[in-house]
Amino acid sequence: MSDKDLSKNKERVSIVVNVPQVKPYERIVTSRPVTFTCQYCQQTMTQERMPSPTPLYCSERCRLDAAATRKRASRATTGKNKGKRGRPKKIDV
Ligand SMILES: [Zn+2]
Repeated sequence: MSDKDLSKNKERVSIVVNVPQVKPYERIVTSRPVTFTCQYCQQTMTQERMPSPTPLYCSERCRLDAAATRKRASRATTGKNKGKRGRPKKIDV
């Protein structure tokens, strides 16, 4: 980085600053207890959380396990579908 580059940047910034009334980025975030049931181990628990969508799993472990199980299950299902037992066609006599 050279001094020349720095001064160039300064010029650019001064133009941006001219924009009138930029909303200050300020957000008060408070955590609050959220009660939910873990979708994996079915445990109901309360966690101190930031305002966000209700979590599905009680822990990172459950989340990963659930994801792994889902992957395995979907693979098994597609395998089953391939070998679907075909019902013999009814033939009217
Ligand atoms: Zn869990």
